[in-house]
Amino acid sequence: MSEAPPPLRRSVAIVGAGPAGLIAAETLAAAGLAVTVHDRMPSVGRKFLMAGRGGLNLTHSEPLEAFLARYGAATSRLAPLVEAFPPSALRDWAEGLDAPTFVGSSGRVFPTALKASPLLRAWLRRLDGLGVRFALRSAWTGFDAAGDLRFDRADGSSETVRADATLLALGGASWPRLGAHGDWIDALAARGVPIAPLRPANSGFQTPWSEQFRDRFAGTPLKTIAISVDGTTRRGEAMVTAYGLEGGLIYALSAELRDRIARDGSVLLSIDLAPGRDAAALAARIAAQKSGQSLSNLLRKAAHLPPVAINLMREGAGGPLPREPERLAALIKAVPIRLDGVEGMERAISTAGGVLWDGIDDAMMLKALPGVFVAGEMIDWEAPTGGYLLQACFATGIAAAQGILARLERTG
Ligand SMILES: Cc1cc2nc3c(=O)[nH]c(=O)nc-3n(C[C@H](O)[C@H](O)[C@H](O)COP(=O)(O)OP(=O)(O)OC[C@H]3O[C@@H](n4cnc5c(N)ncnc54)[C@H](O)[C@@H]3O)c2cc1C
Repeated sequence: MSEAPPPLRRSVAIVGAGPAGLIAAETLAAAGLAVTVHDRMPSVGRKFLMAGRGGLNLTHSEPLEAFLARYGAATSRLAPLVEAFPPSALRDWAEGLDAPTFVGSSGRVFPTALKASPLLRAWLRRLDGLGVRFALRSAWTGFDAAGDLRFDRADGSSETVRADATLLALGGASWPRLGAHGDWIDALAARGVPIAPLRPANSGFQTPWSEQFRDRFAGTPLKTIAISVDGTTRRGEAMVTAYGLEGGLIYALSAELRDRIARDGSVLLSIDLAPGRDAAALAARIAAQKSGQSLSNLLRKAAHLPPVAINLMREGAGGPLPREPERLAALIKAVPIRLDGVEGMERAISTAGGVLWDGIDDAMMLKALPGVFVAGEMIDWEAPTGGYLLQACFATGIAAAQGILARLERTG
């Protein structure tokens, strides 16, 4: 008696080989589906590798409640997904790929190798073992009349792909040369998918430095400062750039700064160069210095300010510094710097805007396109740096894969 042919495996097309697409591929292939991952780039995970240059901050160790609050307006939709695949699960997953993690002094979680390449190599070996296929140098351009996926290949040919389910994990639009630049918007909008415009998140901001300050201090960190905007104060470190300011502290404030500049044209920062020391004590120390020395020397000795901070005071004062101890101390505690522009997508760490949650059901499927799911940074959420970005990409990728599995089971 001849054996019955094996049942045909159901197929899933994933477009986008970033962390969201790859973790979905792993989940789906492990469940026995035939998975092909398409990407326009010649190799996978380019932004993930770039994140590895900064040590690959995979996630954060703070309590889950505080962690989830980092997603702001998107918390209510992301919370169940991150609870289902929390930071501890992401750490276990990395460990399973021979990339054990550690908690840094700020609570951020990194692989001990402090880079992404060993983890990505091990991950690709696992995907290969699960039978995941890759179609690289293949750019998704939209749907044809039958709803199949259309791709343009680097060699000039095109291809149409039909799959039992599709996952789009196309990323945002920051660092466009790494592959994701938001070219999916028109194809989805034309099919009735609601999308908020893409905007830079965790980006730098522009201010018109004097030529002298820019030439001397671009690339210099401003360590242990506090910045206040509209009554919110945060401590951390920023970096002076040729165009203005960037760095962790600026990224933490970036959503608010970006929205204020969009509304009012500019936003005024108050920079405290000596957080933890009060103005009266600083004024007393300045007054106690020997007279006759230069102001720079005096500020260095009395307030331990480095040259970049002293010259930032000159930028804020818009001219020579006052000589009275009280006025100098007040300036140290509140240097006014006006930001009047947002740096573009080219160097932003992440993207705000994207597919609106209203257009996505609880299984991560697009309501306007049954059978098409979404994951990762292309969805409308944003978060500060600190590991929250990758955590949400992994959690949404897994949720979308589970949504696909449930749908395929339901539809036989
Ligand atoms: C410099 C830098 C440092 C970062 N550091 C960290 C960090 O330490 N911690 C952290 O949490 N996050 C970090 N991030 C953010 C993090 O890397 C991203 O949030 C994450 O990679 C997004 O994952 P994703 O899968 O949604 O999209 P992506 O990683 O952007 O992947 C999307 C993929 O889709 C492909 N694609 C797009 N459009 C098409 C198309 N039309 N056809 C075919 N393929 C297409 C792209 O080529 C790309 O490979 C950093 C980002 C940058 C730029």
